[in-house]
Formats: sequence, structure tokens, C-alpha cells
Amino acid sequence: MQQEWFVGVDIGTTSTKAVVYDALGEVLGLHNVEYPLHTPEVSAAVQDPEEIFQAVLMSIRTAIEKSEVDGKKMGFISFSSAMHSLIAVDHEGSPLTQCITWADTRSSKWAEKLKASPIGHEIYRRTGTPIHPMSPLVKLMWLKEEYPQLFQCTAKFISIKEYVFNKLFDLFIVDHSIASATGLFNLEKMIWDAEALKVAGITADQLSELVPTTKSIVGLDEKFAEVLGIDQSTPFVIGASDGVLSNLGVNAIEPGAVAVTIGTSGAIRTAANKPVTDPKGRTFCYALTEDLWIIGGPVNNGGMTFRWLKDEICGAEIESAKRLGIDPYEVLTGIAANVKPGADGLLFHPYLSGERAPLWNADARGSFFGLALHHGKQHLIRAVLEGIVFNLHSVMLALKELIGMPNRIQATGGFARSPLWRQMLADIFDQEVFVPESHESSCLGAVILGMYAQGKIETLDHVKTMVGSVHQHTPDPTHAEIYNELMPIFIRVSRKLTDEYEAIAAFQNNHVKPE
Ligand code: ADP
Repeated sequence: MQQEWFVGVDIGTTSTKAVVYDALGEVLGLHNVEYPLHTPEVSAAVQDPEEIFQAVLMSIRTAIEKSEVDGKKMGFISFSSAMHSLIAVDHEGSPLTQCITWADTRSSKWAEKLKASPIGHEIYRRTGTPIHPMSPLVKLMWLKEEYPQLFQCTAKFISIKEYVFNKLFDLFIVDHSIASATGLFNLEKMIWDAEALKVAGITADQLSELVPTTKSIVGLDEKFAEVLGIDQSTPFVIGASDGVLSNLGVNAIEPGAVAVTIGTSGAIRTAANKPVTDPKGRTFCYALTEDLWIIGGPVNNGGMTFRWLKDEICGAEIESAKRLGIDPYEVLTGIAANVKPGADGLLFHPYLSGERAPLWNADARGSFFGLALHHGKQHLIRAVLEGIVFNLHSVMLALKELIGMPNRIQATGGFARSPLWRQMLADIFDQEVFVPESHESSCLGAVILGMYAQGKIETLDHVKTMVGSVHQHTPDPTHAEIYNELMPIFIRVSRKLTDEYEAIAAFQNNHVKPE
């Protein structure tokens, strides 16, 4: 194959990352530009769209420079971006609001209202986006009621990727993947959903033109070509969202392959060749291409819960880790390794920041269950690690109802640094776990999709030749049996606590002042 180079760009919530790859998936240059997430009020989470646009330009330019490949030889630039963002703009595309991110929960009252109405569930079943404050549909309901003047004079409502493409090409276009995470896109018909638009109080012409994720655009303005150091004729592939591209980038798009991520938060996702939604409303369904869909659940409480345990409970262990010059997480997982699977009957529900999948309950709170005098701090540590995985497994059980048994788990995220935690995942899921080589999976996914869009590869399965595995774990049957016995108790307890979650969250809201 002739030497070729491609750029994958991931517009994330904390930073934009650009990576230059060769045709074998080797990373030649990478650059990351961070930006703040503003919280002018407790439940707001907004960003400056222009700052993000500049970060996109800077990250691409610098990644190319670092790669030492002539920018004029880049085969294409392909995009991933965070889902669920919303920016109100005028006819010229100038922002009338900040970029309201997925993490903004100011519309929670509207989410509750829509969820409680009979059309809420129907809209979820047609659009695949759970009814939640993250959803642009719900954000529009909130803006319409609380900022009617702004709402009236908005020409278009767009996402951050649409903002970037509008700046670069003066077009309002949105890929099917980003559209499928708005709560406004009819998955079967691949058009804006008339009823969802009505609920949002907007018309289809206030949204961008829908295009496939493989859509390529050429004809970059000279000034941007110069800034980026590329040729004006370099194709820009619109690409998809970060979640679905991450599945592609970790080689989890075959039937039965499931991607489990435990970073700060977590997610579990698998692929289907048609849209699939859950009668019980526990999972999302987003487009990767017109005939490949990613279904799964996002989890708030991933590694952040373990970090909380480290910082709030394990001060002494952090001190000794410092003295020994080792990573405190390694000390803690070392301590947990001395406790038997199942933590001698101690369960932990990790809902420290409410929970999205599988409960979709912002009031959920954490708890240890089963504490007895035989438990010590080492049990608490093990129970926290297990509880995070039990919770993800409860999302897996929902997925199993929809798509059948998984046959392989591809695990990524900070948790995968720990052999103990990886084995726990294999034992609790009772599945073979692989840890793929992970070179910025969403950027790599964007590049593979770009190669497909440009006809350089015939199918997305080509990913197999680009991503290998660095670790493999086989479930231990005796451990799996213990976890299998505890899993139903874990699920029943959290279900039984639903009313009490509401009560304790109300108490905290009334009595606990934010610091
Ligand atoms: P992000 O999702 O923000 O990119 P990471 O994927 O790096 O973050 O995940 C961070 C989390 O990974 C931490 O909160 C912690 O729970 C976990 N983690 C990091 N290092 C280790 C380790 N050595 N052992 C176990 N867990 C770890």
C-alpha cells in the first residue's frame, strides 16, 4: 500500500485531540488542546464555541507539525465529537448562547415532565435517546419556556460539530450519528421526528441538513488551509460521535463484541445492524453508519467512585504510596487483592453522583450493604471495585435482553491499568475480556470511518488488522459463581431503595449547602 496519512479529530468536553495516523493505524503525531467547562450556576455546564473552534484548528495544525509529515499530503481529516451539545445561532451561524453540553442539567424539570407523559416513552422508542437533561430535545423544551425571547429569535439549533463545519465551510450539516443523539431524529425513517419537533417547539428548517457519517466535503477556504498547513482540496469527512467511534476504534463492531469503558465515568456498548431500543427505556441507540448502530448505556459512576474512596477514606494508604513512590491506586488494588471475591458478603452501590444507565435516576445515592463486624477497610475497597463492575453488569443484562449473549468484552479506560480490576470484569461478566491497544479510540475510529468513506477500505471490519490486544483475561468459574450469587441481591437492593433515594436526595438538597 502506498504511504498515506490521515488526521482523526475528537472534539471532547475537556479538550480537542487531533491524531495523525498512517494507514496501519500507527500514531505519528498527537496534539491535545484543553478548554474549560464553565459552571456559572450549579447545574449549568457550558463552553465557548469559538474557543473550541480555535482548539480544533490548533490541535490539527500542531498534530501535523509533530508528525513531521507534509500537511499537504494528508489523505483526509475526519471528525468525532461529544454528543448532545446545543448552541442557538443566528442566520449567519453566530452563537446566541454558549455551547450547552451533555453535562448541563438545567432542563431536569422538563426531562421529568416528558418522562412522566405517555409520549415521552414513545419518543425515546423512535429516537433512541433516553429522556434525560442531556438530550437536546429536553434542552429545547427548557429554553422555549425559560428563555422565550431568545428561543423566538434563534435561526438554528446546532451542535458543536455543526458549529465547526459551519465555520469551515459555511454549511449547516449534521451527520446521522450526532443527529441520533439529539432526541429529535427518527431512527427508522432517518429523518427529523415530527412529534419530537413539535414537543421541542421547532421546525425541521431550524435544524441542519442530515447527511451520512461518510459525507466528505472539499473546498476549504484558503485562510483555513493556510492555518492548518494543508491543501485546500483535502477532504473533510464529517464522521460520527465519540461513543460510537470509540466502539469502532477498539474493534467492537462485530455481533457479540461488547465495549466496556471504565474511566472517570463508564459505558457499555455493542453493535447492531438495525436500530434497537429498550421497552424498559434503559439503553440508548446511536448511528455509526446507515446500517450499523451502537446500543448501550452510559454510567456516571465509574472510576470517579474509586477516586472518591482513595481521596476521602484512604489518606493513610496515599501517604504510604507516596513514601514508596508508587501509584496510590496500585496500593489500593493490592489491598483489595487480599480479600476474596464477593468481599465476604459486602456489596457497594456506587451511585455517588446519581446514575444514568441502568437506573436513570439522578436521586440515586451510594451505599454499602451487608456490613458486618468481620469487614475491614480492605473489604470496603474491594466492594467499591466490585460495585462499579456490578453496576455495569446490570446494564449488560439489559443489553442481553435486547441482543443476546455477548461473546467478547473489549475493555478500555483507566481501570484497565489494574490486573485485579480487569480479572474482576471477566469474573463478574463471566466472559473473556480483552484489552485492545488503545490509541485514542475515537480519533482512530474517525480515521477508519474516513478510510471507508474515501473508498480506501471495503468494510469497517478492516479495524481488526489495525487493533491488537495487550491483555486477555478468562473468567475463573469459582469466582464467577460467587458473583452470580451476589448479582441478584445487588439489583434487588437498588430497586428496593428507589423511594428512599428520592427521600435522601431531597434531604441533602434541603440541608446540605454546596461548598
Ligand atoms: P478519563 O475517563 O477522565 O479519561 P481515565 O480513563 O484515565 O480517565 O480513568 C481514570 C480512572 O481510572 C480513575 O478515576 C481511577 O478510578 C482509575 N485508575 C487510574 N489508574 C488506576 C490504576 N493504576 N489502578 C486502578 N484504577 C486506576
